Amino acid sequence: MQAFISGIVPLSTTEWFGKLSAVIFFGGCDFRCRYCYNPEMLESRQEFLTDLKVITSEIKKHEDMIESVIFSGGEPCLQRMALITLAKHFKSKELKVGIDTNGSKPNVIRELLSLELLDFISLDIKSPFSNDVFSRVTNSKTFFTKTEEIMDGIKETINVLRKYHENVELEIKTVIVPSLVYKKEDLLEIARLIDGLNCIWVLQQFENEKELVDKNMENIQPASEKFLENLKEFCLKEYPGLRVKIR
Ligand code: SF4
Repeated sequence: MQAFISGIVPLSTTEWFGKLSAVIFFGGCDFRCRYCYNPEMLESRQEFLTDLKVITSEIKKHEDMIESVIFSGGEPCLQRMALITLAKHFKSKELKVGIDTNGSKPNVIRELLSLELLDFISLDIKSPFSNDVFSRVTNSKTFFTKTEEIMDGIKETINVLRKYHENVELEIKTVIVPSLVYKKEDLLEIARLIDGLNCIWVLQQFENEKELVDKNMENIQPASEKFLENLKEFCLKEYPGLRVKIR
């Protein structure tokens, strides 16, 4: 079997914080987030086509050192069969398996969880579910798919996680981007959505040092640490049960 794989990082501690993991980057994504710093991974390019055996033998070289394998991208859930096949393979090697996802494919997440193939999920909630903000951040609407349907998919993923999260470490990530996602009321709306989930909510600093999907974003300065701290405190006042980290 082949898959669109845009790269492998054999040893990383950043994808699953504190764990030494191999990271497999899937090529192709259904979003075009304006601040995305992996623009070269967003298309399913022919040159990314790779036999899964090549991937597994590459990871095998580092199996003794790593605790886990993380699927990232791009959006891994767009390649369901390859994802499930690889997850089964790595679980059979007694490695932990994680995924970094935008949440648009709840059925794939549900299937992976029901097959007990995931130990860690990092779910991006990129904006509150308001048509205007979400479509400005993600550029995900197409001729065939409305913004409402995409947001419904992510809401469904959150519902799936409420059911299955017990044996899975869950991280929700929101990138704080001045001019896009930075308003207290928007963050409060996300806090409301995830309240009660057994998760860590990461407020992530926007980075403008790499090539971004939207070149105009490269001129936007990240918010200060203090600004992020204030957002965190504001949300915790309303939702004291949340566990929030700044990264
Ligand atoms: S940041 Fe957005 S566009 Fe980039 S890979 Fe993630 S979901 Fe896709």
